[in-house]
Amino acid sequence: MLEPIKEMPTLASAGPNVEMTLEKMPVPEQPEGDDGGGNASGAVAEENSIEYQLNAAKSWGKQSRQQEGGLQINGSPSALAATLRIINDGLEGFYTASLDNSKLTFTRNEAKDLAEMNSKTKAFYVTLNNATNSLIAFTINAYDRNDAQSKNILIGDITNNAFDISDIEAFGSNGYITARAALAHEIHENFLVQVKGMLPYGAHIVSINKVEGPVSGVSFDKERNFKKDIIEAHNTLIVPYNVFKDGNILRRQLTISFRNGQIRKIKDGKQ
Ligand SMILES: [Zn+2]
Repeated sequence: MLEPIKEMPTLASAGPNVEMTLEKMPVPEQPEGDDGGGNASGAVAEENSIEYQLNAAKSWGKQSRQQEGGLQINGSPSALAATLRIINDGLEGFYTASLDNSKLTFTRNEAKDLAEMNSKTKAFYVTLNNATNSLIAFTINAYDRNDAQSKNILIGDITNNAFDISDIEAFGSNGYITARAALAHEIHENFLVQVKGMLPYGAHIVSINKVEGPVSGVSFDKERNFKKDIIEAHNTLIVPYNVFKDGNILRRQLTISFRNGQIRKIKDGKQ
């Protein structure tokens, strides 16, 4: 079962250095030769060329990787629909996400030029693509407010590989830190813990700074305290963040209020 992985040194050499991932990962190119018609006449003649064989190997590797690895999202139809809605909002039409036997997959929209993808959208896509291309399969359980479990999940619960998509959806799509940023954070955190073997707290901090920040176009001062007991004690979570705009740093914060384990209200304002 592991044979194909051995033959993919380029993927293996992508390495565990998460810090570099966002900066270094280009928007992945589409597998070649996928578009049906086109250069059919040249294709036969080229079959023995090195390039042809490399592409075939690449495409085969991609298929086997998709079978063996990737991200599976489980949940009720409404939880999965909400998850896909946020992902597709985040992809802004450049790709369409779907769940294929629970596995997250993307289809490229050729009508949209990838060169027009802004850095926030790119950070979002790269994070998710990283997860779907994972050599080791991992699973996230999506709950929404209709599930009893969602009361026990304050946005995400890494110990149960779960997120509460109703909490995530409460971040909305306006402002800086949006639902897509919160979702990308949870997905990356699960990737780091389940695939890369990081400890939850470290994975949380990396997800804040390397995913949530870039997807939102903001930065964070220091380690953000997100411990469940603190939220439970106060029912409030303050998330300070910085926006760099016109040469100035705007210091802002989200004030997230919980009630019965659900987000009741999010206030976004100056610090
Ligand atoms: Zn986290």
